[in-house]
Amino acid sequence: MWISKKRRPGALVRSIPPTPSAAWTWTASTETAALVLSLFWLLSANRTFLGTALKGHGWGDASAWGFVAALAVMVLALHFLLLALVGLGHAFKPLAALLIVGTAFASHFMDRFGVYLDPSMLRNVLRTDTKEAGELFSWSLLPHLAWQAGLPLLALWRLRLVRRPWTRAAVVRAGALLAAAVVIVGAILAVFQPFSSLMRNQKELRYLITPANYLWSLGSVLAADAKGAAAPRQAIGLDAAQGPGWAQRTRPTVLVFVVGETARAANWGLSGYARQTTPALAATPDVINFAQVTSCGTNTEVSLPCMFAPVGRRAYDEERIRGSESLLHVLARAGMGVQWVDNQSGCKGVCEGLPTALVKDWNPPGLCADGRCLDEGLLQGLQQRLGQAQGGQVLFLHQLGNHGPSYFRRHPPAFARFTPACEQDDLRQCSREQIVNAYDNALLYTDHLLATLIQRLKKASDQGVDTALIYVSDHGESLGENGVFLHGLPYTIAPDVQKQVPMVMWFSPGFAQGRGLDVQCLARRASQPATHDHLFHTVLGLMDVRTALHEKAWDLSAECVKP
Ligand SMILES: [Zn+2]
Repeated sequence: MWISKKRRPGALVRSIPPTPSAAWTWTASTETAALVLSLFWLLSANRTFLGTALKGHGWGDASAWGFVAALAVMVLALHFLLLALVGLGHAFKPLAALLIVGTAFASHFMDRFGVYLDPSMLRNVLRTDTKEAGELFSWSLLPHLAWQAGLPLLALWRLRLVRRPWTRAAVVRAGALLAAAVVIVGAILAVFQPFSSLMRNQKELRYLITPANYLWSLGSVLAADAKGAAAPRQAIGLDAAQGPGWAQRTRPTVLVFVVGETARAANWGLSGYARQTTPALAATPDVINFAQVTSCGTNTEVSLPCMFAPVGRRAYDEERIRGSESLLHVLARAGMGVQWVDNQSGCKGVCEGLPTALVKDWNPPGLCADGRCLDEGLLQGLQQRLGQAQGGQVLFLHQLGNHGPSYFRRHPPAFARFTPACEQDDLRQCSREQIVNAYDNALLYTDHLLATLIQRLKKASDQGVDTALIYVSDHGESLGENGVFLHGLPYTIAPDVQKQVPMVMWFSPGFAQGRGLDVQCLARRASQPATHDHLFHTVLGLMDVRTALHEKAWDLSAECVKP
């Protein structure tokens, strides 16, 4: 019970005549407040966790009730432990307020898009630019925030914390912490068998325990970043050099590598989607379509560094990938001209220290509004660049592509061919059909971009430049299947639509001849599965860059080029 300094010690608060400011207050110890808040989170933010953990158990199953009760007690005690550990003295209220707001946002996005707040998702959230973040907020957030943040904040504001002498406070707190730890251990022991099998088989479930999930993920991302910042990026491919074939090449050679965004293979016309979302590419001769490509990650933050690393998903080591240089540095080391042009949220470290440009800085006329540009802005200045090219060049174009949820903003009006299309930032306002239509319209625009690019590259090849194109998306997207939207689910449980991506290649006759590339042979290879892991080695192979890092087994062109 809280005691005013002016009052006689021991006097009860309610014996004082109530003043307006004292009305609607409640008095509690920090431990009680922590318990109440943990209970609130259990009921408001952890229903998805409990529901997912219980999937497959019938409600008539008595053991399921025991299991859910034990899980609920664990979640409650865990958050109590957390609050009691760090919420000391005057720090309790501001800390609780911060967590209340954070948890309200977290539970909103988890409920709405079916996301898991693991470290990779947190990294994605932290690196999202304000424009991207803005599209995720909608009016539907307000009622959710009102009850999940407004209500507990009000209660916190009207809370009067009991102040105890510090020795007594320390004893009470230690006892409470111990009790919470005992409760957690007891609950685990009580349901050890089903609990351990759940944690073994569905490890990702822990990233649904809110707010512990985002606090843990935030901590691990910050720790990894601090470690990364302390050490310089490890140089790779120090032996990289141009292959002997370059000595005979007299024409400049330009490879354009388009890094796509959120395009999924399931909706890619060339790969057999029932609807033609790639009419322009289908009408372009000599396009090689890889129909079975698996991405390295389910979000940009993971996929981009991984796509350009020598070892990607097959022996995934995030720390090593982030701590090392990329394909771009190896190409540059071999004397290639390398540039990264960005129309999105940056190159995620893969172009560090190399020439870069932002489409929004170019501000191409008629293509930019509100800090966002349509992807055709990537083609600005291309003609000139091709005209001035010398030697070997690799140009990376990073698309905004199908970045959701506002698919309808990713293309000019002329591409709104599938109707009715969702024209809301809040996907819940639209039917599934409208969402898919909007998504497919954005794919039509990527198809247009790629076909236009090939036309320009073809024209350049008629004017003496050997040109080639590779396009591959960074990851796929969920469009409401099983209630999941967007992308970024933990890799092991992500559905195929988030991991299967389109990839196409095109080579001018001069490029193929210069490299000794049998295009038909590569077209045959395209019918086999491929992954992002192939990209590093395939680009080195196609550009004839020699280094000990190059693994033939991972080079899609290995059997199709002059050795
Ligand atoms: Zn992405």
